[in-house]
Amino acid sequence: MKIVLANPRGFCAGVRMALDVVDQVLDLFEGEPIYVYHEIVHNKHVVGRFRDRGVTFVEAIDEVPKGAIVVFSAHGISPAVRQAADERGLRSIDATCPLVTKVHSEAVRYARQGYQILLVGHADHQEVIGTRGEAPDAIQVVESPEDIPNLVIDDPARLVYLTQTTLSTDDAGVIIDALKKAFPLLKAPPSEDICYATTNRQQAVRAIAPSCDLTIVVGSRNSSNSVRLTEISKNGGTDARLVDDVSEIDAAWFKPNDRVMLTAGASAPEDLVAAICRALVDRFGATLEQWDVFDEDVEFALPGALRKEMKRRGVPGADDRVRVSASEVTPEAYGAVALTVSASKLDRPAE
Ligand code: SF4
Repeated sequence: MKIVLANPRGFCAGVRMALDVVDQVLDLFEGEPIYVYHEIVHNKHVVGRFRDRGVTFVEAIDEVPKGAIVVFSAHGISPAVRQAADERGLRSIDATCPLVTKVHSEAVRYARQGYQILLVGHADHQEVIGTRGEAPDAIQVVESPEDIPNLVIDDPARLVYLTQTTLSTDDAGVIIDALKKAFPLLKAPPSEDICYATTNRQQAVRAIAPSCDLTIVVGSRNSSNSVRLTEISKNGGTDARLVDDVSEIDAAWFKPNDRVMLTAGASAPEDLVAAICRALVDRFGATLEQWDVFDEDVEFALPGALRKEMKRRGVPGADDRVRVSASEVTPEAYGAVALTVSASKLDRPAE
């Protein structure tokens, strides 16, 4: 068996930043109860590990005691939630990914300019709920081309679309093409809303999965970008499984000489990927390859409220930028060393 590790996989800069925020808040306010509004990122293990350290996750602001500390999750919140937190006197720290904030700003700007906004995304996803809340009267959510006949359009010349950051670029393309066909004057956002991390992880699956027998995606079922990775592999003809961790791996999925692609959604910790490698090396004598499709160098600052508190207390690192580096594949962590294949080799036919 050969395991082909996709690079990039796993944590993006937005997720890393959100987790660093909660880590830092736990240190800064040691002994005080810490609340996080919604799952900080959509991953069962990440949430469970923070719960074990005393963090309480809530789905409504009135579950947080007055005056307590609350962190807003990476998916963003609507202004109504922010206002409710202020009215309750909560000390809030906003861990919204800057790339989600960018979509919120676009929504506010277009609504002020009198545009109706078609927000392509999943209506029940936390990010879409937050973005919609920025301009509820101007935004209609489009989940599929079937929604188009039900849209209520006042002026087809003042219409713009925005998208959720974690959609499949293929699926979003189909919906946007259908919208453009129905509304030829539809305006596009100034830059792509589907984020770099979503796009890169999907591109890696498109590049690698067709030469593999199975794709394993590490991620939780409520992680939009993880689910999309399995769909993209299947659409390209390679069966795919979404697993939270090694305990969900079934030996019956594999044949002895299979090539297995292994990747992870943007909210999945790398130690879970490493544990799967170790198990497959142990059980099947698998060898490892890592295919480098993209290098990522995106970095974000910590939220302003946190930086201010760190500086006030003389805690170092307030102005450090948060970035994610590719993990080193060591035999201790992954069970074997990985041969690295560069992106240029991916253009050659699969062996
Ligand atoms: Fe930000 Fe994209 Fe990561 Fe979401 S997946 S946290 S939008 S970088």
